[in-house]
Amino acid sequence: MSLLRVSGLSRSFGGLKAVDDVSFDLEAGQLLALLGPNGAGKSTCFNMVNGQLRPSAGSIVFDGHELVGRRPRDIWRLGVGRTFQIAATFNSMTVLENVQMALVSRERKLFGLWKAASSWFADEALHLLEQVGMADDAHRACGVLAYGDVKRVELAIALANRPKLLLMDEPTAGMAPGERSDLMALTRRLATDHQIGVLFTEHSMDVVFASADRMIVLARGKLIAEGDADTIRNDAHVQEVYFGTGKTFQPRASLAGNGPAAGAPR
Ligand code: ADP
Ligand code: MG
Repeated sequence: MSLLRVSGLSRSFGGLKAVDDVSFDLEAGQLLALLGPNGAGKSTCFNMVNGQLRPSAGSIVFDGHELVGRRPRDIWRLGVGRTFQIAATFNSMTVLENVQMALVSRERKLFGLWKAASSWFADEALHLLEQVGMADDAHRACGVLAYGDVKRVELAIALANRPKLLLMDEPTAGMAPGERSDLMALTRRLATDHQIGVLFTEHSMDVVFASADRMIVLARGKLIAEGDADTIRNDAHVQEVYFGTGKTFQPRASLAGNGPAAGAPR
């Protein structure tokens, strides 16, 4: 049984089919990239899996549970973690304290009580920080960290809940190329070590080809291709639709041939 099985997933906004009959599977330990140009429906698809958005149709079965109709908090409890944007870490708190908070929050769901103490879960938090390479920065404030390091702390926070599935919406947005490949290599290692399935969205093909086991490509809400890097790279439909954005730059050269009206200043 797949860790995640999405079948016939659809969501419309008014007359617009943002996600149209999308189906895919994800196995434990695998990195699956959801790829596509801007507006393809990646975030919409993603937000249906985490419970933020209700599908118009379809089913999302995770670890034997139907997720459609459940609230985000309940989905999180079942073991679906996600990395949040930068604002989710508390800048005035240290790196260690941020991860401790996440651990306290996890235990709270078990015991139904809140005990705030600086020693709580410090060892476990430090262990999580070691796994993302941030143990040496444990006692620095999150607010002074470089962007790529904040992303690592976000990963440690997501791991605190011991997710079986980790969702990341454009995790490398705003990062330099070197940082991107580092973060995805780290994600790859964590997925393997903990047998976590990772579903991430990305619009850069380079990031995806280097890190994902499999990818699915959306265009205008429809799934147009699925497979490994080679399959996707050589897919005619993907080349046509995805790289179509690049082709719009080509007519520049032929613009001169359109006559003076095309470029005439007013
Ligand atoms: P991506 O993440 O691939 O860039 P999105 O899933 O954000 O794409 O958007 C897919 C399409 O759905 C776009 O045309 C977008 O304008 C539209 N859309 C997304 N969210 C909403 C919403 N809440 N209301 C109306 N239209 C939306
Ligand atoms: Mg998006």
